[in-house]
Amino acid sequence: MDADIVIKNGMVLTMDEGFTLHEKADLAIKGPKIVDISPQTKFKARKTIEAKGRLVMPGLINCHTHAAMVMMRGLADDMPLETWWQKFIFPLEKKLLNPNFIKIGVGLAAVEMIKSGTTAFSDMYFFEDAAAEVCKKISIRAFLGEGILDVPTPDFPDIEKTLSFVEGQHEKWKGDPIIHLTVSPHAPYSCSPETLKRSRQLAEKYDLPLHIHVSETAYEVDEIRQKYGASPVEHLENIGFLNERVIAAHCVHLSEKEKEILVKRQVKVAHCQESNMKLAVGQAPIVELLQKGVAIGLGTDGAASNNNLDMFDEMDSAAKFHKAVRRDPTVMKAQDVLRLATSEAARVMQRPDLGSLAVGKTADIIIVNLDRPHLTPLYNIYSQLVYSAGGGDVDSAIINGKLVMDNREILTVDEAEIIDRANFLAREVSHG
Ligand SMILES: [Zn+2]
Repeated sequence: MDADIVIKNGMVLTMDEGFTLHEKADLAIKGPKIVDISPQTKFKARKTIEAKGRLVMPGLINCHTHAAMVMMRGLADDMPLETWWQKFIFPLEKKLLNPNFIKIGVGLAAVEMIKSGTTAFSDMYFFEDAAAEVCKKISIRAFLGEGILDVPTPDFPDIEKTLSFVEGQHEKWKGDPIIHLTVSPHAPYSCSPETLKRSRQLAEKYDLPLHIHVSETAYEVDEIRQKYGASPVEHLENIGFLNERVIAAHCVHLSEKEKEILVKRQVKVAHCQESNMKLAVGQAPIVELLQKGVAIGLGTDGAASNNNLDMFDEMDSAAKFHKAVRRDPTVMKAQDVLRLATSEAARVMQRPDLGSLAVGKTADIIIVNLDRPHLTPLYNIYSQLVYSAGGGDVDSAIINGKLVMDNREILTVDEAEIIDRANFLAREVSHG
């Protein structure tokens, strides 16, 4: 009974539908899959990880980010979204983005994510081929979506070139075990109905998730209403865009009718609580959407509006914000919020093999050090993870069956070198 990795004597939190928790168990991994979870595994492995006093759990899944924007962390804070984007971020992107910028930014983001327990992320940005190469090297699972916009992007002069790039990228990466693609039209206000329809066709043709920003600000809702005589979700419904592939990021401003459309079309939602708070765009109706059975996953959004990629922070904020604004401490319970970063996030990404631990599932796993002052005493593991833990408590990460971080050391790349290169590039950004 050979395995590649055996994690011994850990507390194993499966995040399966019954919330099965093993107080002490071994977990065996062979190739990319989990082959055993039992009190004393019979599997023998080349690599054994002793996990006494540690928690073994599914790696966190970040459902919406713009990874390379870590290079703009702290550059333009405390201003409205429209000013932030149009005056600062977009001009800077036009001027500075190139494959080298993306490689450095995505490298930094990937290391930050792994070190805070994220094993998979969904990205929407530019030069996604450069991003793919970096993620492959670092061995982080990535769902990459080249930003599709009607206006010229930093990498393509027109929409035709962008769409043919997306097709070519699919040919290049199809079947890769950790690099996955999405079709990512930016938003209803930046993409014409024609562009949205063509994006949807591509997603159908290649069987990919369709990732888009929807109703992030009230301004955007007004703009779409004036242009198309319908609010954003209605507009998307009217042009036949919505189906179960769609991952709608934000969904802050929704009418009752729009919520029903999301339910009917089985649209997935990426909820970016910290970005929504920081840009003060409003209160996403997440509690109502959860009650209606909509699949919701948490996302950090880009680090320029967060300002980190730590999903533990995101869980803490999502759990507390909705309690605060509703004056109801019973909503967004810790256990449910943890699902939004694991099993429900896997549903959002349309990958049922991720987000929970069971024999036959893909081994995207993190090991959390519980033996710490702020995690003591331990009465309720869900409360501990959502309200007390932070990304820095994650010791080790396994992605697709490969040990990528061991005792906080990234094994695939030189972390210090990545930080140096990012600091060097930052000089160019601050002069930009
Ligand atoms: Zn975004």
